[in-house]
Amino acid sequence: MPDSNIEEHQIVIDGEKCIGCGVCIQYCNVDAIAISEETGKVRVVNLDSCIECHSCQQMCPEKAIMVYPQVRDALREM
Ligand code: SF4
Ligand code: SF4
Repeated sequence: MPDSNIEEHQIVIDGEKCIGCGVCIQYCNVDAIAISEETGKVRVVNLDSCIECHSCQQMCPEKAIMVYPQVRDALREM
């Protein structure tokens, strides 16, 4: 499931779904996300730079990444 404390994050990555393909990174123009050398999966490296364009979420073939406010909306429905 998602990163810890999702209410404080704009980007939530499902580590079980992410296959580390890097597609999302190619579509992020502000370098907010990167592949972790440790895990081989995507991780947030600069949350402040994220402009919530949703490109990463839309392009991910595994639906492994969610971007605020979708996260907030999903939480509301829980
Ligand atoms: S596009 Fe999806 S599966 Fe590929 S690295 Fe990004 S989050 Fe992971
Ligand atoms: S929403 Fe846009 S700016 Fe934010 S991490 Fe995804 S691609 Fe980058």
